[in-house]
Amino acid sequence: AAKGAGRRQHVLFTAELDRAARDRVQMQTELRHAIDREEFVLHFQPRVRPADGKVISAEALLRWQHPQRGLLPPGAFIELAEACGVIEEIGAWVLAAACAQAAAWRRQGIALGRLSINVSTRQFVSGDLPARVRSTLERHRLPGNALELEVTESLLTNDPGEARAQLAELRGRGVTVALDDFGTGYSSMAMLRQLPIDVMKVDRSFVVGLGHDDGAMAVTRAIVALAHSLRLHLVAEGVETEAQAEVLRALGCDELQGYLFSRPVPAAQFPALPGLAPPAAGGRLSLVP
Ligand code: C2E
Ligand code: MG
Ligand code: MG
Repeated sequence: AAKGAGRRQHVLFTAELDRAARDRVQMQTELRHAIDREEFVLHFQPRVRPADGKVISAEALLRWQHPQRGLLPPGAFIELAEACGVIEEIGAWVLAAACAQAAAWRRQGIALGRLSINVSTRQFVSGDLPARVRSTLERHRLPGNALELEVTESLLTNDPGEARAQLAELRGRGVTVALDDFGTGYSSMAMLRQLPIDVMKVDRSFVVGLGHDDGAMAVTRAIVALAHSLRLHLVAEGVETEAQAEVLRALGCDELQGYLFSRPVPAAQFPALPGLAPPAAGGRLSLVP
């Protein structure tokens, strides 16, 4: 605990520390079995077109249906999964489950452009991500442009397993790459210019102040201008109020995501969301541009 808090200090033993350490070990063991026990589920949050609120894409967000602790959000276990190495296996499960769902929705004629998944930096270490994505897409007969991978700035600053080359290969297959949580990391302007990405997601922390905080407004305006001058598609996350949506619409943001439109929902509830184009006659896929 002393090391974890920045070293050069001491921490007295407490029953609480002991419990936390035991908890971690137990969670790790449980995480390793969670895939076989089919305890993971994906929830889906729509991303809408600002002009008319039409759902044009969605983000898959992982949940762990823990037998004792209930439905856990990723904040409760992703870090641990990264630390103990199971994240690669979990990531592969997420990819397969998201592609299976995207294919099922296509068969039902649900008009969804892309489905995005979150990919941890650790998943680039082995170098086999592009091959895995390719085989998963093929297995589900999906084109590359049905899938978007959300990565974070740390991937591009650390470049594990020559991540940039892997991203280039994926983009070559039509897969979209999005930079998640933009503005919370340490991207330099020099680096931004040459990032192998197509989409930028403005972090919720900027969206929160829109409509009442002039500073947040100025920064968001600058981010929109930056994204567009780099020819990136811009998605705003964490949109909770009509006032925030209005500002983002006026600034020319390309897609909006947040509780205002819908919380992440289980797959079964997704087709009933307002803003989703009804299936075309005969169940044919009608792609919203
Ligand atoms: P993220 O990718 O930035 O996802 C957005 C998070 O914001 C989600 O939290 C979502 O539920 C939440 N959110 C969406 N709209 C709103 C809003 O209007 N207001 C507020 N307050 N929150 C909103 P969630 O599902 O708890 O996920 C947290 C993070 O966990 C994600 O952040 C992502 O980094 C990570 N994560 C989720 N699924 C996966 C996964 O399959 N693999 C990996 N490696 N990480 C994942
Ligand atoms: Mg994300
Ligand atoms: Mg984010």
